[in-house]
Amino acid sequence: MSRKKQRCSRRDFFKITGAAGIGSAIASIGNVAGAAAPADSKDSGPKLVPTRPFGKTGEHVSILSFGGSHNLKSKQLLLKQAFKMGVTYWDTAERYSGGKSEQAMGKYFAKYPDDRKKIFLVTKARTSDPEKLSRYLNQSLERLKTTYVDLYFVHMVTNVKEQLTKATKAWAEKAKAKGKIRFFGFSTHKNMENCLMQGAKLGWIDGIMTSYNYRLMHTDDMKKAVEACAEAGIGLTAMKTQAKFFAYFYADIGRENEAAAMLTDRFMKKGFTPEQAKLKAVWENPHFASICSEMPNMAILQANVAAALDQTDLSIQDRQLLDSYAQATAPGYCAGCGNVCESAVKDNVPISDIMRYLMYHDEYGNQQRATRLFSDLPPLTRKRLASIDYSKAEQLCPQKLPIARLMNRAVEIFSGNVARRA
Ligand code: SF4
Repeated sequence: MSRKKQRCSRRDFFKITGAAGIGSAIASIGNVAGAAAPADSKDSGPKLVPTRPFGKTGEHVSILSFGGSHNLKSKQLLLKQAFKMGVTYWDTAERYSGGKSEQAMGKYFAKYPDDRKKIFLVTKARTSDPEKLSRYLNQSLERLKTTYVDLYFVHMVTNVKEQLTKATKAWAEKAKAKGKIRFFGFSTHKNMENCLMQGAKLGWIDGIMTSYNYRLMHTDDMKKAVEACAEAGIGLTAMKTQAKFFAYFYADIGRENEAAAMLTDRFMKKGFTPEQAKLKAVWENPHFASICSEMPNMAILQANVAAALDQTDLSIQDRQLLDSYAQATAPGYCAGCGNVCESAVKDNVPISDIMRYLMYHDEYGNQQRATRLFSDLPPLTRKRLASIDYSKAEQLCPQKLPIARLMNRAVEIFSGNVARRA
């Protein structure tokens, strides 16, 4: 399963990205690097995405993971190309695209059974109840046309102590003993620092996928939590590495534009896009084994692979520039610290989750997924959302987000969709 770490020179990188085409090819699509498409994809031939050890599992995984939350129904060629490029860590979930993501990967494995053995396959379920986990896992295995997954996650964990119980641990051990899963862990988008720290203390977690990016990486809490996981031998995967923000609510668009232009100008001169630089910023932390990125088309896949192959380090100045950009756009970015704002409002409103659904809708172009997630909220929460007083939450929010306006927007855009889905 392990692959030898592959290296390539800076010249290889330019060969792959096609420097002449970079300027016209920038396109931010979802949680992915902007497209610096190769002039000739044949040139990307033998270079494979490097691998890193995944915690103490003994596995090596590709540093770029194929995020499969989008509709993969007609993406068999894309999956094949990802495999050929060495993107051999694939991520899906029982919920993604209503199960179609797993089915599409299953279709691929049925056609290429030898590839399955070389793929580090992750799927997840949004429960930690043993009975439901068994049901979801069996369903996932059937859809994926496989007898095992390499890593199984409890999806969207927000409170480790409450969600990952002794019963969950016993279930994981049993599933491992049956050969249905090889490793076990969880994903987290909310209160990540706490979840990572608590996960590190459990002693039975093999892997964690967490929101992590050039904005979140600098806080003491995040640094300590990542260190704790590394010491505990937990394999870490970063997601949400592009750290998009609510541009339409941004008060100082001139400052944002200026910061974005500086980023583009500098990184393009160095031969990569700002999106590729944001991936590099995460890879520079050796505690992260991989980055999970949505790659809905060949151009994005190639741009991300090119960034993974390039060995140029970011300079101090590059990092400072990313930091300036993060600061200039901070008032539009939700940092996932739900424990801060949610305790300041009544009715257990999951503000941080709703922010994420809005982000999927407005900035990632994934309206279907956003609407489905919003419609899963309790009807009473949805009904009361627009009438709650968010003033205290806004005062506490470290990012100074206009929470009330954003919650109102969520009601506006999702309510119609929810009614249509009902
Ligand atoms: S709205 Fe503010 S306090 Fe709440 S999760 Fe987002 S950044 Fe944190």
